[in-house]
Amino acid sequence: MNIMRRTVLAVADNARVAGFFRSSRLARKLVSRFVAGETVETALAAAKDLDARNITTTLDLLGENVSTAGEAAAAVESYTAILRAMRAANLEPNISVKLTMLGLDFGAEIARANAAAILDVAREVGGFVRIDMEGSAYTAVTMEVFEALHAAWPDEAGIVIQSYLRRAEADVRRAIELGARVRLVKGAYAEPESVAFTSRLEVDEQFARLARLLLDEGHYPAIATHDLDLVRATIEHAQRYRIASERFEFQMLYGVRRDLQDRLVTDGYRMRVYVPYGTEWYPYFTRRIAERPANALFVVRQLWD
Ligand SMILES: Cc1cc2nc3c(=O)[nH]c(=O)nc-3n(C[C@H](O)[C@H](O)[C@H](O)COP(=O)(O)OP(=O)(O)OC[C@H]3O[C@@H](n4cnc5c(N)ncnc54)[C@H](O)[C@@H]3O)c2cc1C
Repeated sequence: MNIMRRTVLAVADNARVAGFFRSSRLARKLVSRFVAGETVETALAAAKDLDARNITTTLDLLGENVSTAGEAAAAVESYTAILRAMRAANLEPNISVKLTMLGLDFGAEIARANAAAILDVAREVGGFVRIDMEGSAYTAVTMEVFEALHAAWPDEAGIVIQSYLRRAEADVRRAIELGARVRLVKGAYAEPESVAFTSRLEVDEQFARLARLLLDEGHYPAIATHDLDLVRATIEHAQRYRIASERFEFQMLYGVRRDLQDRLVTDGYRMRVYVPYGTEWYPYFTRRIAERPANALFVVRQLWD
């Protein structure tokens, strides 16, 4: 699985491949499966559709590793506007942000200050801001910035922890100590063996173990996976230890396992869907292709024709 992910992510960096995705109509169709649209309006429409299915949303304005402070400031503007727009549309204001979109490459302080500006508005509208977790070069600094933010906005700021990382358990324990909301995911980047488990078994085992820890001791954790075995294990643990379904939520990605999303809602569980939108969809899209062989094969067939 890891070799496959590495290969797809490496190929995706190729300019010809990128050009194909930006121009081909068929490729755009595949993109639209994972990305709600390019505008705020399309994102809000997707959130409304989910709301009608009793599913909450976290909106993600696509973009990462901005190259100027101006771009980071523009992201702050967009994010504060979308928080207000969600409130105005009667949706729970909830967004996911990447610190590299807020200027982390220019220094932790810039990213922290930009995130703080967003969190101020989140508090004003009764919203929530999840700091997404990026590649391992950013893990330590993201955790540090998050701790500083969480100290000032304990109810509005949450973090993501990736079970493929060897350090994940220590981070989960720290988050529990802080009383911080954690979204547990497997992890989507190509990482070296020195920092991450590379076998599926180890990643899944650590996910299951940390999910149990978060259910037992965490603060409203989000179990974010489409892996049916892990979803089932979560439910079994919650039932066995009488952990009420209101004390945690499942999360899935827009366009992935819609059937499972609906089934969990029918069974009385909370479900939130991560809805990405915007023009900078290419890196997000390639990570979605990289994590599933069937998606990659589909793409290769299109390239061949
Ligand atoms: C709400 C949410 C937020 C996330 N935030 C982050 C983050 O901040 N940082 C980060 O590194 N990662 C993040 N991820 C991605 C995560 O790390 C995984 O890469 C992704 O969820 C796939 O892993 P999985 O747990 O679904 O298990 P997998 O074992 O990869 O997949 C299990 C099953 O789910 C289905 N599936 C999974 N992915 C796809 C796909 N792309 N297309 C079609 N079917 C699919 C397939 O049926 C597959 O067999 C997030 C995921 C979710 C759900």
